[in-house]
Amino acid sequence: MTYAFPPPAVPKLPIAGSKIFFPVHRVYCIGRNYAEHAREMGHDPDREPPFFFQKNADNLRVDGLFPYPSHSDDVQFEVEMAVCLETGGKDIATDDALGHVFGYAVALDMTRRDLQGAAKKLGRPWEVGKAFEDSAPCGPVHRIGDVGHLCRGEISLDQNGVRKQTGDLSHMIWSVSEQISILSRFFTLRAGDVILTGTPSGVGRVSIGDVLHCRVSGLSGLDVRVT
Ligand code: MN
Repeated sequence: MTYAFPPPAVPKLPIAGSKIFFPVHRVYCIGRNYAEHAREMGHDPDREPPFFFQKNADNLRVDGLFPYPSHSDDVQFEVEMAVCLETGGKDIATDDALGHVFGYAVALDMTRRDLQGAAKKLGRPWEVGKAFEDSAPCGPVHRIGDVGHLCRGEISLDQNGVRKQTGDLSHMIWSVSEQISILSRFFTLRAGDVILTGTPSGVGRVSIGDVLHCRVSGLSGLDVRVT
């Protein structure tokens, strides 16, 4: 096989305690998956069907830096647990869903909130608000053999040492199993897919120089500096 030019590298995440990498296929994100965050965004957190959007696999960034993006005066943090799949499929049953998980990581769904808000008002897609370069800082993937399945435990974000976001994984409106199952009805999930599982309340804007300390109980923390 000869390409017209060198193909882009496969996006990858480090695996905790290992020298090998998790190769990333797609990045799916669920919207409004914690009730308090749905309320702070002006929505009713009733259990309506979940909705998903995507980031690009190469939007993941693992070096602890987040370059402030262009075209926004309101870039916000959203701490989220990332679920990394080892196998996929279509129409996966909820009871079988966790069997597809390779591991978990701490991630950020960085958002140009002003552009997202404008897109919402106009009924336009969210990519300019969500799927920009470096919009998904991510920590190492922890294998389930090391950390087990994470269904409860604190998820939090400190901005410059001040607690801004706090929640518990058990407060997800749609559980990890349900997210995998529902996504698999709409998409063929594959090994290497990453799902960002939603953010608790307390999202806020960042400034250059900020340090974001992100934690999910049971995983190593993710520190990100806004540059
Ligand atoms: Mn999010």
